[in-house]
Amino acid sequence: MRTTLIAGNWKMNLDHHEAIELTERLCELVKTLEVLPEISVHPSFTSIRSVQSVLFNKKSQIVLGAQNCHWETKGAFTGEVSVVMLKKLNVKYVIIGHSERRIYFNEDDAMINKKLLTVFENEMIPILCVGETKQERDQGAEKDKVASQLKSALDGINRTNIANLVIAYEPLWAIGTGVAATEYDAQQMALFIREQIASLKGNSLAQSVRILYGGSVSALNAYGFLKQPDIDGALVGGASLNPEQFFAIIQAATSELA
Ligand code: PEP
Repeated sequence: MRTTLIAGNWKMNLDHHEAIELTERLCELVKTLEVLPEISVHPSFTSIRSVQSVLFNKKSQIVLGAQNCHWETKGAFTGEVSVVMLKKLNVKYVIIGHSERRIYFNEDDAMINKKLLTVFENEMIPILCVGETKQERDQGAEKDKVASQLKSALDGINRTNIANLVIAYEPLWAIGTGVAATEYDAQQMALFIREQIASLKGNSLAQSVRILYGGSVSALNAYGFLKQPDIDGALVGGASLNPEQFFAIIQAATSELA
């Protein structure tokens, strides 16, 4: 049985005061629920410590995530943040290979593989993002793209770690556009991802991997994705900045749990 995960990627938004305010409101809302999916919030680095304190003080079940990390644990990498620093702050999930990192910061598959290895070595869980561009989908090349991203990213990752892995299928054309994938297409790709993992690492491990859908998830469309058999949660960008909207997505996940 795979646990549903609803992850909120705050991207480069909110100073630490705003992040505290959002976290406090979210904690209040989440407290009203009896059954919960797993919920993670991914603030920017400057807010992680503040958000950690709020979650701790409120004894919240919401867990902490990060949006990125470096593949080395320390050293001369000006401007970077290491997994050791994140681990110390109680971070559980680290988003790796988000398309915005791949596009704007030239992160390639080799770097993403190194980051995954480091996150696992430091006992956190990566949320590996994969997905195709609009052009690749129009050309019918979406599966080839995702298969090649998976193959490189998962190189050398051991069986125990694969079982804990989270993958987010995020078609690039759906991120921040308000145009989500159809439930059918998202499920088809989630199934394809599971089949790829089965062929790379074996079927029983593929059944443990959690696969999220991400790309313009909202309170209105969340349930449609979450009820799909191979979709185990959502990676939410824009809607996670609004506590009521993010909570409505969490509630959609609880109807799946009931
Ligand atoms: C994201 O940032 O991963 C994302 C899916 O963004 P949005 O929900 O805004 O499309």
